[in-house]
Amino acid sequence: MKADIDPALIQRFASIVGPAGIVTDVAALEPALTEWRGLYAGCTPLLLAPAETAEVAAILALCQSAGIGVVPQGGNTGLVGGAIPASTPHRPEILLSARRMSSIREIDPVNYTITVEAGCILADLQNAAADADRFFPLSLAAEGSCQIGGNIATNAGGTNVLRYGNTRDLVMGLEVVLADGRIFNGLRGLRKDNAGYDLKQLFIGAEGTLGFITAATCKLFPRPRSVATAWAAVTDPEAAIRLNSEARRLLGDQLIALELINRLAVDLVLEHIPASRNPLNEPSDWVLLLELGSAGSGAAADTALEAFLARALDEGLVTDVMLAQNISQRDELWHIRHNISAAQKIAGAGIKHDISVPVSRLGEFLQSAHQYATERVPGIKVVAFGHLGDGNLHFNLNQPDNMRPDQFTGLWTEISTAIHTLVAELGGSFSAEHGVGALKSDELVRLRGGVELALMKQIKAALDPTGIMNPGKVLSSR
Ligand code: FAD
Ligand code: ZN
Repeated sequence: MKADIDPALIQRFASIVGPAGIVTDVAALEPALTEWRGLYAGCTPLLLAPAETAEVAAILALCQSAGIGVVPQGGNTGLVGGAIPASTPHRPEILLSARRMSSIREIDPVNYTITVEAGCILADLQNAAADADRFFPLSLAAEGSCQIGGNIATNAGGTNVLRYGNTRDLVMGLEVVLADGRIFNGLRGLRKDNAGYDLKQLFIGAEGTLGFITAATCKLFPRPRSVATAWAAVTDPEAAIRLNSEARRLLGDQLIALELINRLAVDLVLEHIPASRNPLNEPSDWVLLLELGSAGSGAAADTALEAFLARALDEGLVTDVMLAQNISQRDELWHIRHNISAAQKIAGAGIKHDISVPVSRLGEFLQSAHQYATERVPGIKVVAFGHLGDGNLHFNLNQPDNMRPDQFTGLWTEISTAIHTLVAELGGSFSAEHGVGALKSDELVRLRGGVELALMKQIKAALDPTGIMNPGKVLSSR
């Protein structure tokens, strides 16, 4: 079989990482070969978990000379099949994990930076920052299991992009092992550095196709002294867009998150996820989850958010409001938002889209996409939610009750093609934050062809001439 690796070569890998860093047992490999959505099942004889950068370098040098593909895997929470080896590979592919490289190398509170190894779990990084009275703002529902290396490789977004930017904006320096085993050490904590091309940017969002990230220096921020969170009903997406615009104008940098959620998304969580309850007395077709962070302590954030929402109620921009009174109420609101994907999974087969359009055109997108989906598959369930402030929505579709799951997912390509075409017409992106991986590489060819795709292929050829890094991901081999 093409996936097999010569035992003598396996022995050489074992001598690099030692017994604690090698997995060959089929049952132990199993969890690393399937992903969260259950869309991909990969094949590999070997997972390597090196303990330090020098070991990663030795592994990649050996892989390149032996012509073995390398699939980097972080917390395996990615949603586009990027961390899963091919099911029928043209040549052997191994999994390379940073899980034994999870330490925090340095916190510099005065420089507002933290240097961490790639296998550090995002929540651990957030906690380390908080322990130093600093704030690391990257936040997403998978933060208890995703790794900072995976976050950087996917340029993860999450709920705080509006105020703090994507992962790309939070990374100041990277240490990366290249496909030939050389180590690029760009771990600088500099806010200003115009010494030539900004090489780290190439690896951020490259989904493991250009090199293996081993460590990063990330920006830290002042910890907000007070935080306020609210749940607000709006009549339609256009009202939500106006509210977003007003919130930015009146609240400025205090506005950290502004998430839009449709009624079905809330209903699914209430139905399937324990310990969830509707924050409002009456259900609403659309709700917003807003969060403010203020440098002022005490009630500063609450006061600002309350005043803003009172005005929005007066103007009819929102129709009902619940302001969290304490941490547990705040957690209840985020609990609903963070469990939408989990609830959807329980509710049946889904076809998912991770799109962005200019915020000003989101209403137009939602109307047209909703109309298309409901006409194409009568009874289809539209679960629309996401980061309205960033123009990024998860436009997800669940199967009608009377349809077989496989019959529904059989429509994935047809429906996604139509939705992505609509997005492109509106000046948007078919991959706002989850990346391309294996799932959307054909769409990259269709929608980003020409010079843009040609440049990507040139960069890939320059950094990984034998194509060992994450074969077939982002740039399909076709
Ligand atoms: P993995 O899934 O293991 O890998 C992702 C990609 O990165 C793969 O291509 C892999 O090869 C590559 N990679 C991993 N580690 C390295 C490394 N050290 N060097 C080079 N390449 C590497 N994403 C968002 O952006 N925003 C969200 O709000 C969000 N919410 C989510 C909610 C849920 C419930 C789930 C399950 C996922 C969500 N995601 C979200 C997607 C996912 O969590 C992110 O893509 C995350 O950044 C992936 O990190 P990971 O460590 O799990 O990486
Ligand atoms: Zn998201």
